[in-house]
Amino acid sequence: MSRTLDHLLDQNVIWAVGKRRDDPEFFRRMAEQQRPNYLWIGCSDSRVTANDVLGLDPGEVFVHRNIANIVHTSDLNILSVLEFAVDYLQVEHIIVCGHYGCGGVARSLTADRGAMLDHWLQPLTMYYRKHRALFDAIADEQERLDRMCELNIEMQVRRIAATPIVENAWSRGQTLNLHGWIYAIRDGLLRDLGPHLSSVEERDALPSIDERVRNPTEPISAMRRQAIDAFAAFGPEAMEGLACPLPTEMHGHACTEEC
Ligand SMILES: [Zn+2]
Repeated sequence: MSRTLDHLLDQNVIWAVGKRRDDPEFFRRMAEQQRPNYLWIGCSDSRVTANDVLGLDPGEVFVHRNIANIVHTSDLNILSVLEFAVDYLQVEHIIVCGHYGCGGVARSLTADRGAMLDHWLQPLTMYYRKHRALFDAIADEQERLDRMCELNIEMQVRRIAATPIVENAWSRGQTLNLHGWIYAIRDGLLRDLGPHLSSVEERDALPSIDERVRNPTEPISAMRRQAIDAFAAFGPEAMEGLACPLPTEMHGHACTEEC
């Protein structure tokens, strides 16, 4: 590997040439202005890149990432990104997307307290400690981590919804929808966790986040939701035995209600 990382610069040339070959106007359009309709708040994990998992081109999603996709309301970085996205870019959707197997979330479930990272993870650590008996009652370690990964997403959606930036946008009638999603590295698929928030009223109608430890929301893929909607007209019995809507090559695990 060269000291000047020429292999990466070479790959960039190949990428740019390929882009221009497929779409001669691509870079001209990019240079004019960015008009993303989505703000993505995700984890810094190198395997979860917004444009790739969404299948979007540059210019289509505004991105903020940090370890464990945490929204600290004193973090000037995320607040600046949020303000720019909402007030100037006028994105209509904010997606908080975490992922299963998140190393940051996993650390918040341990007694490790020796790094700067542990200050960053403190909201998760405190939540875990508050509900420790319930979390520790989940015998399977993987399942416990999955639950915390899911709860973390809802926690951060609520924090975004409580910022003056979002409240002000809603109060002036701006369309702004908040979403909570989770990504599974094992199959490359996103699942919707909620909550979906489009107003202060919807936010305030949510049950306490403390309730969620006992009553977690069920992650659902868009394909499964569409299948459920399609079969809803025929009654719940029509759903029984309904084949998983995912192509089998998309996942190596057994089909579950999670698919
Ligand atoms: Zn992560």
